[in-house]
Amino acid sequence: MAKVWKSEHEQPQYVFYCPGCKTPHVFDQRWTFSGDVDSPTFSPSLLCNPDHEPSRCHSFVRDGKIEFLNDCFHDLAGQTVELPEWTNECW
Ligand SMILES: [Zn+2]
Repeated sequence: MAKVWKSEHEQPQYVFYCPGCKTPHVFDQRWTFSGDVDSPTFSPSLLCNPDHEPSRCHSFVRDGKIEFLNDCFHDLAGQTVELPEWTNECW
């Protein structure tokens, strides 16, 4: 089952649900995508809210898992968890 949702803009964007922030995050054309929506890998890492420590989220998405780095604000900092399947309820 797909863990990322492809949004058909002029430039494709890939949306996934972040179980740390409990909100969707977006990869755009600045990232390299493996092409496998069921077990996605994106590179390089994704850094959300770099200038706001209370909401910062920093992760790698590899092989369908999300590896949270230690500078995340949420409880999953430093952990690797399975990416949830994307559903419309993820919005
Ligand atoms: Zn997040």
